[in-house]
Amino acid sequence: MLSEGHELNYSKIKTYQACPLLYKYKYLEDKRERLTPASSLGVSIHHTLEAYHANSNDPSELLAYYDDCWLGAGYSSAGEQMEWYLKGKKMMEDYAEAEYQRKTTVDSTEREFIFEERGWTIRGKIDRVDKHPDGSWEIVDYKTGVDVDLTLPITESLQLGIYSIGARRAWNLQKGIVTYYFTAFNQTQSAPFEAFDEKRILDTFVEIGQKIEAEAFTPNTQYCAHCGFKDWCASSSFKEETL
Ligand code: SF4
Repeated sequence: MLSEGHELNYSKIKTYQACPLLYKYKYLEDKRERLTPASSLGVSIHHTLEAYHANSNDPSELLAYYDDCWLGAGYSSAGEQMEWYLKGKKMMEDYAEAEYQRKTTVDSTEREFIFEERGWTIRGKIDRVDKHPDGSWEIVDYKTGVDVDLTLPITESLQLGIYSIGARRAWNLQKGIVTYYFTAFNQTQSAPFEAFDEKRILDTFVEIGQKIEAEAFTPNTQYCAHCGFKDWCASSSFKEETL
């Protein structure tokens, strides 16, 4: 039986790791970060690919889906919006080219997993799940930003790690790989399900869950420069440094 109200997901863990106080603002006080050009483009790309794979899978139609799914919020001017629209358009053109070569079948998009670990309910939503001709599976997560380090080993990724565990535990997909699809770089990186340290990943989730339960929300001011709340947060170090 899955426990209610005792839930963790990768976004929560990532937020807590960045700054425990940010976690409190977002998940306990329901404060929302404003859309930025980068986050708005990320929403547009994710919606585009979800709609495209759910309804079409014809690469010649992908740009029409992009136009339909374009989110015009988060930009300070029409010129800035056009600049980011064109960045996204280039990503979708590259994606469409790759689609002509794809050998897998798209099984599902935005598919949710849920399983229990030591009394915690762990959830995740996966951008795309593919089936290979040999019957194995591929879990795909889109990364639309440019602030990524492509040299980092993806087996260190907590996100892909929890996805590989979720795919096996919740859906019983035993053989497969997990993939980051870096749309801004037109590159993918993959690792087999079993390449991740399952114990370390689950321990990290549970340990952070326990800190949240203990209401340990000490600010991490190292993160302030990247934080969407830095302009008003009383603990922000970024305002002082920039005055
Ligand atoms: S501004 Fe700094 S201290 Fe405040 S929530 Fe953001 S990262 Fe944490």
